[in-house]
Amino acid sequence: MFITFEGIDCSGKSTQARLLAEKLREAQHDIVELREPGNTRLSEHIREILLNKDYSEINERTELLLFAASRAQLVAEVILPSLQQEKIVICDRFSDSTIAYQGYGRGLPLDDIIHINRIATQETEPDMTFYLDISPETALERTAGREGVVQDRMEEAGITFFERVIHGYMRVANINAGRYFVVDGGKSVDEIQGIIWRLVSERLKSESRYSISLNGTLEPMVL
Ligand code: ADP
Repeated sequence: MFITFEGIDCSGKSTQARLLAEKLREAQHDIVELREPGNTRLSEHIREILLNKDYSEINERTELLLFAASRAQLVAEVILPSLQQEKIVICDRFSDSTIAYQGYGRGLPLDDIIHINRIATQETEPDMTFYLDISPETALERTAGREGVVQDRMEEAGITFFERVIHGYMRVANINAGRYFVVDGGKSVDEIQGIIWRLVSERLKSESRYSISLNGTLEPMVL
């Protein structure tokens, strides 16, 4: 099972990803907890470049390709092997972030981004995606509690950039309605956690009742 968290900065993704991982570990599941970009030796180097303010000259296409390169390595080195070992992979951001930020936010051509994403992910798609929905204004208020980098980045990009990103996420959510769960990120941490836990535990229960037969049809597991 592959679960991703999406949303603008400060929407609560890392908080909820961590809480979900804790609950799943308590329930004896094998969890791999990731956040993009990063988590492999190469991807962490790329993360340093992407977050380094000394490279303010970075072109938006370079940025797109660096995110994709980091993701390609993460998918090949960690995500696919973990899913093959039937672990639960929880990732804070994945390919939808690139569509929302580089596509809708920066205005790069969506067809190209979708194609680049496909190369990077080897067509690996999340089973469940939680989109934490907050306004850019709420996000900016929350940056007060964060280290300077996030605050600077958000203030530089401006409210209208995040409005475009949010619009992009809504389009992605509508196109991928089967896996998308749009959660009101303005609720309390506990309330959101409760909603996410209910959905994930229900999904896990329904998955464990079925096994995929060799011809690919769903069959109940004989207990
Ligand atoms: P993200 O990973 O999306 O950038 P974080 O989980 O790091 O967001 O949260 C950003 C800030 O907002 C942190 O200070 C966190 O404590 C706070 N926060 C997270 N979720 C909520 C919430 N539901 N209500 C109020 N504040 C929250």
